[in-house]
Amino acid sequence: MSGRVLVGVKRVVDYAVKIRTKADNSGVVTDGVKHSMNPFCEIAVEEAVRLKEKKLIKEVVVVSCGPEQVLETIRTALAMGADRGIHVDISAEEYNTIGPLQVSKILAALAKKEEAQLVILGKQAIDDDCNQTGQMTAALLDWPQGTFAAEVVLEGERVKVVREVDGGQETIMINIPAVVTADLRLNTPRYATLPNIMKAKKKKIANVKPADLGVDMISRLEVLKVDEPPQRKAGLKVETVADLVGKLKEAGRI
Ligand code: AMP
Repeated sequence: MSGRVLVGVKRVVDYAVKIRTKADNSGVVTDGVKHSMNPFCEIAVEEAVRLKEKKLIKEVVVVSCGPEQVLETIRTALAMGADRGIHVDISAEEYNTIGPLQVSKILAALAKKEEAQLVILGKQAIDDDCNQTGQMTAALLDWPQGTFAAEVVLEGERVKVVREVDGGQETIMINIPAVVTADLRLNTPRYATLPNIMKAKKKKIANVKPADLGVDMISRLEVLKVDEPPQRKAGLKVETVADLVGKLKEAGRI
């Protein structure tokens, strides 16, 4: 295939950060908190770059929707081997209210504009755990989808996708153009090395507004409140197995 792959990358609070909710329960604290590329998006970028290295595709284009900070995420993807970037510029206020539907509309519009043969996304973003963007993008484009991919094989005009399903794997064959979402076992993403970070500075990042793509930023959902999970009660230490059994009986657990 001599086509183009579009990869969506999202900037999220780093997976190692302990999440705290805002005092008014309107969301989570993001100011002054370490952010990085959503781990499933790293896997999506890696897969696209591998397809290019195997000469199965000719270009990898990465897209991130959000305020200017997402440029950092795009640059990381470029340092991993993507060819060029598209920053879909959304103000911080709007970005707080939009959901997967608006992002899907943007990705679908770009997939058409760029004449992409494949859109590869993460299976979900670890901040709001939506797991909706890939599915909605495929539906808006009326393209087949291979979600939760553990293996992706391009075979001419078709793609074989091995999917992670409950208790096993499902292998499907879909026609391109298609949407694929990356699961954890698809690959191990490479690190962006310093020389590649330097090289990536020369790669182009286009700036696009949602309105240029005919997409409005009116959200259809409102977050009512965000709560922290209940604190776990402290455990108990017991000296012997007999004590343990006694305590479990007391608590009605056996
Ligand atoms: P979600 O449906 O929100 O769990 O996100 C699934 C995937 O959609 C992510 O792993 C990204 O590949 C893509 N995606 C979600 N939000 C954005 C965004 N703001 N910019 C670019 N891609 C995104």
